[in-house]
Amino acid sequence: MERVDTTIIGAGVIGLAIARHLAQQGRECFILEQHPQTGFETSSRNSEVIHAGIYYPADSLKARLCVRGKELLYDYCAERDIPHQRCGKLIVACDESEQQQLQQLSAQAIANGVNDLSWRNASEVNAMEPELSAHSALWSPSTGIIDSHGLMQNCQHDAERHGATLLLDTQVNALAWRNNKFIIGATTAGEGYEFASQQLINCGGLHAQQLAGLLQGYDASQIPPIHYCKGHYFSLSGARPFKHLIYPVPEHNTTGLGVHATLTLDGQVRFGPDTRYIDEIDYSVPEALAERYYRSIRRYYPGLADHSLHSDYAGIRPKLQAAGAAFEDFQFQNQPLHGIPGLLHCFGIESPGLTASLAIAEYVAKKLI
Ligand SMILES: Cc1cc2nc3c(=O)[nH]c(=O)nc-3n(C[C@H](O)[C@H](O)[C@H](O)COP(=O)(O)OP(=O)(O)OC[C@H]3O[C@@H](n4cnc5c(N)ncnc54)[C@H](O)[C@@H]3O)c2cc1C
Repeated sequence: MERVDTTIIGAGVIGLAIARHLAQQGRECFILEQHPQTGFETSSRNSEVIHAGIYYPADSLKARLCVRGKELLYDYCAERDIPHQRCGKLIVACDESEQQQLQQLSAQAIANGVNDLSWRNASEVNAMEPELSAHSALWSPSTGIIDSHGLMQNCQHDAERHGATLLLDTQVNALAWRNNKFIIGATTAGEGYEFASQQLINCGGLHAQQLAGLLQGYDASQIPPIHYCKGHYFSLSGARPFKHLIYPVPEHNTTGLGVHATLTLDGQVRFGPDTRYIDEIDYSVPEALAERYYRSIRRYYPGLADHSLHSDYAGIRPKLQAAGAAFEDFQFQNQPLHGIPGLLHCFGIESPGLTASLAIAEYVAKKLI
């Protein structure tokens, strides 16, 4: 039976960033992806925002890996000419009570090591964004946008240059741990085979729990339940009203960051995502949802014209946090937790996973024993 060093399941941004990092360290990496192309699931269904690291509890992995990941990402974008813009964002308080929420956010940012936020009063906001209606706002200059596909292509290229092999159209459907190695059953273009691997990294995103459940003998009570949380996007037709990203105050427990305006690198504006817990993967965007979007967006953008929003796409967050439950962090399960050397599961890699991807790769490489 053929034997390889490290197998990574999933060629989203996390699997590709980890493959790049490990391959550069000299490890032989195989990346298995069930779709005919990389980044086909959550990694291409998000806001493409480089987050500053403001929202998450201090010392959480989300906070630490976001702040570190942002720096690594801006450096990598500059080095590789990956399309991006450090356009900054305004987090808007529409009234006095929301300003108190922003004050808490400002304190949270400082606790997370994000020291570049500053306040804007109503007239300063108006000077920056005349279309915006705000009582006050927090200005985050280090927030930006990135071409997520450009990022993934560069990670893939770096990994392959250092000897990694990417197998597309390859679905993993059986996993076992025998005689100190993993036996991996997969099909490529419908043809089944088995091979052995010394290490196994599960970057399956929405399917990570299902993959962990395939591993014979793995204690199922260790696998955290997954909760699908969908977010819909609507694109705006007509002239672009904003120069910066515009966010409302976040939802309770940062389940979502509120229906915000993101800019695309080609100059379009998109609104979203909302948060809806769902039972099955479904990427439809019902036009009927637009009514709620008009209402929430007009709180900060009263000039939003009728019939200017058009259903665009949806993404699904692989949340560990159930609806209404307390904050849950990213989870990386390695040998100290489950006792199997060379096995690492990535669970709950929702936002800010894209921003944190290069820092997650660094972290996972250290945790892989
Ligand atoms: C609505 C939304 C908005 C977001 N906005 C942002 C943002 O603005 N900024 C930010 O930093 N983050 C954002 N995120 C988070 C970010 O998109 C994710 O954290 C990141 O894309 C997760 O990448 P991944 O590689 O873990 O998952 P995925 O991209 O889903 O990749 C997992 C891969 O594993 C493959 N796979 C699964 N099972 C198998 C199998 N059995 N065999 C072979 N392959 C398999 C899948 O096909 C898939 O390609 C957002 C997420 C959502 C849902």
